[in-house]
Amino acid sequence: MRICAATGNAGKLRELRRILEAQGHEVVSQKELGITIEPDETGTTFEANALIKAETICKASGLPTIADDSGLCVDALGGAPGIRSARYCEGTDADRNAFLLKNMEGKEDRACRFVCAIACVLADGETVTVRGECEGELLHENHGAGGFGYDPLFMVGERSFAELDGAEKDAISHRGRALAALYEKMKSRKEEE
Ligand code: IMP
Repeated sequence: MRICAATGNAGKLRELRRILEAQGHEVVSQKELGITIEPDETGTTFEANALIKAETICKASGLPTIADDSGLCVDALGGAPGIRSARYCEGTDADRNAFLLKNMEGKEDRACRFVCAIACVLADGETVTVRGECEGELLHENHGAGGFGYDPLFMVGERSFAELDGAEKDAISHRGRALAALYEKMKSRKEEE
C-alpha cells in the first residue's frame, strides 16, 4: 500500500519508513507531497492527537495516512513529559534531555516508558488506532549517539535506545510494537472481508 506518513519529525519518519517498508508498504512523507500543515495537537491523549494528525493530513494527501503521537512518561514526574514530550521545553532534543535530568535531580525512582499511538486513516475514511509501549529506566546522563529525542536517556536491559541499531530498537520499541499491532489488525480486517 502507498501510505502517507503524517510527520515532520525526521527521527520518527526514519523509523516509520524502516518498519512500514519492511511490512511491504511504500511510504511517502507529507513533506514529499508538499504538505506543510502542522495540525494543532489539542487532544489530551496520545490516541486523540494521532487521530487529529492522521485525519488532517489524509484530507490533504488523499492517501491512506499514518500518524504517530508518542512520548516519554516518567513515573516520578507523574507521567511527564508525556504528550508534551516534543514541547517539554524550548530548544533542541539535547536541551529537553538536560531539562528532564534537572527535573529528575534527587529522584530515586527512574521507572519510565515510551508510549506510541498510531492512527491510520484509510482511503475510505475508516480509522484504525493502536498503541505500543516500552518499559525502561531513565539514565543519569546521556549514553550513545544513535536514535533521536530522549533515546540517550532511556535504558532497556544494559543499553540505552541510542546504543541500539535500528533493527534492535524496532524489535522492542513502542513504535515497533504499535506498528506490529497495526499489521495484525489490518491482516484480520482483510481476512474478515
Ligand atoms: P509528537 O511529535 O508530539 O508525537 O512528539 C514526540 C516526541 O516524543 C519526540 O519529539 C521525542 O521527544 C519523543 N519521542 C517519541 N518517540 C521517541 C523515540 O523513539 N525516541 C526518543 N524520543 C521519542
